Amino acid sequence: MKRIRNLSPVNWTVIAVVAVLLILAVLNAIRIGGGHKPQAQTVSAALPGEEYPLAVYFVSVGEGDGAVIKCGDTVLVVDGGEREQAETMKSFLSSLGVDTVDCYIATHPHSDHIGAAAGIFAAVRVKSAMLTPFSEINTPTTETYERLLDAIEAQGSEVILPAAGDVYTFGELKLTVVAPVEETGDYNNMSIVFKLEYGKTSFLFTGDMEKESEALVLEKGFDISADVLKVAHHGSTSSTTPAFLEAVSPRLAVISCGKNNDYGHPHKEILSLLEDEGIEYRRTDLSGTVTVYSDGKDVFVKEQYQ
Ligand SMILES: [Zn+2]
Repeated sequence: MKRIRNLSPVNWTVIAVVAVLLILAVLNAIRIGGGHKPQAQTVSAALPGEEYPLAVYFVSVGEGDGAVIKCGDTVLVVDGGEREQAETMKSFLSSLGVDTVDCYIATHPHSDHIGAAAGIFAAVRVKSAMLTPFSEINTPTTETYERLLDAIEAQGSEVILPAAGDVYTFGELKLTVVAPVEETGDYNNMSIVFKLEYGKTSFLFTGDMEKESEALVLEKGFDISADVLKVAHHGSTSSTTPAFLEAVSPRLAVISCGKNNDYGHPHKEILSLLEDEGIEYRRTDLSGTVTVYSDGKDVFVKEQYQ
């Protein structure tokens, strides 16, 4: 009896210590669980030789943006990079056998986006051109912009001046414009931002939109969720706020930027943000042209340098 009584306080101490450890373990698990974000679903590599109905090419045009969207006979071109990248875009379109573009989308008037436009218009038939709607006071007077307007006029392309919320159909592609919501003299924040949908898959093209335009799009409550995000403004910290990224919740992010560019794009803060969210990304400066295919149900990625 004496031995038992002596052992008894020891047992209670052990039990108390174990209980405290268990509580701490549970609390720790809750803390870790609460802070842990689910990893985004990974994107499969495109299968060699496989034919996909939609191809979105983020063409490597140095420091700038240039994308070609091809779905059957439907072709859209977004920007194209600086003037000297016209040859890159022309030979890319030629390699795809494209001689007609349904719509050329000029996201905004900066030369790293529309510099190559006149060269593209000189090489292919462009049925329509989508431009930021500027009031007279904000209409650009740069030579780059004038050359684009001259090219549109020379072709007699239909001019589309979209408003946020407008929806367009090109073949099997649905295009919903979500920005600019309000006019400003800041061209980056006047970028045409649109969601491209094919079947159940979607892509968000953001031009060089910055925080201000992102906030307006979020305020409007547009559905900007997308499988693939073209990261705004070449991965600059001027853009891609956590709230905007969360609303898009992409599975794949693509950053279009030049090798060793003068701006330090993409900024490390944006790369960290993508990594923290578990979002896969590709960079045209490292991967060359990045192609994302869709079969209407899923997206598949292919890099030029593999
Ligand atoms: Zn730019």
